[in-house]
Amino acid sequence: MSTQKRIPVAVLGATGMVGQRFIELLQGHPWFELVGLAASEQHRRQPYGQVARWRLGGEMPASVVGLPVVHCDPAELPGVKIVFSALPGEIAGEIEASFAQAGVAVFSNAKNYRMEPDVPLVVPEVNPEHIDSIPQQQKSRNWPGFIVTNANCSATPLVMALKPIQDAFGLRKALVTTMQAISGAGYPGVPSYDILDNVIPYIGGEEAKMDSETRKMLGSWSETAGFTNAPVIVSAHCNRVATREGHLECASIELEREVSPEALIEAWDSFVGEPQRLHLPSAPEKALLYRREVDRPQTLLDRDAGHGMTATIGRLRPCSIFHYKFVTLGHNTIRGAAGGSILNAELCVSKGYIQ
Ligand code: NAP
Repeated sequence: MSTQKRIPVAVLGATGMVGQRFIELLQGHPWFELVGLAASEQHRRQPYGQVARWRLGGEMPASVVGLPVVHCDPAELPGVKIVFSALPGEIAGEIEASFAQAGVAVFSNAKNYRMEPDVPLVVPEVNPEHIDSIPQQQKSRNWPGFIVTNANCSATPLVMALKPIQDAFGLRKALVTTMQAISGAGYPGVPSYDILDNVIPYIGGEEAKMDSETRKMLGSWSETAGFTNAPVIVSAHCNRVATREGHLECASIELEREVSPEALIEAWDSFVGEPQRLHLPSAPEKALLYRREVDRPQTLLDRDAGHGMTATIGRLRPCSIFHYKFVTLGHNTIRGAAGGSILNAELCVSKGYIQ
């Protein structure tokens, strides 16, 4: 794609944790030009630099400081071809539909449409073929645009680690315990008094999402049958811990057949996803990185692997209940949110769904 003609894009929920990640990751993007920022009514028409408190490292990008924050309404973002939605689930549904109805391609981080029978839920290394359901969605909803969702930030590193295993050996069961960073709850998220010196063994709705979303993404899509869930049993324990970014997850798996640990590690080591084959701009060189050290991955040391787009795996060992256990880690606001969404948009451009 020519760098002369970048596609105009906007971010909905631009002041929040994920919205700020979108802004950061879209700086200098070779295909997309960030032209619009939207948030709630309270900020309407005010320059982004005045209303947003930049929570990420470094300075707020100069290109957005003077951009006016508009209402999340297609009429306020004329000419925009793609919106990246970082809106809360409570309000995302109607707003995202209004953009799809107006002919815009919507890439959503919200939970609302993920499990809809005509909406793809995609991690591009795992189920890129689900994108091909877009024309059916447009037809069934009479939308000139469309909605593509990316997964919950805790389902993402799990499904990335499971995909090569499922493909090579078949997967029956996955039992996973998460240690999820506080940024997963947005800003300001969990009060510091509740989370410092503490672990909270409850994140509302998260365990059910890990189950349903993992099975949808590991499942298939066809024009005649639509989405069919993978016959995998998933059970999750989700915990909030006092880290800032990065969801660390301990998984035990039962396979369809006995395999050696070397074969599993080889499946991870040799994995090449569709974004890597297509050389998409946001694709990390390696989607999966297996580390041999006995005490890795660690949240602090490994969350930024591949600029936050690589899932780091380690500690593969036999499990006395299932076959094997291992640890996987993903950056929640990058791979599990904004970066994953941008990669989905790049996949759609490369497949011709966005001109
Ligand atoms: P957040 O920090 O709370 O940000 C929410 C954003 O939505 C803010 O920009 C806020 O703007 C805007 N907003 C709130 N109410 C609005 C309204 N009525 N109309 C228009 N805009 C409104 O949340 P977040 O963590 O970025 O999460 C955003 C979405 O991504 C959620 O659906 C979340 O579940 C999902 N997600 C988050 C993560 C993560 O790691 N954080 C990962 C995956 C998915 P104002 O400043 O104007 O209020």
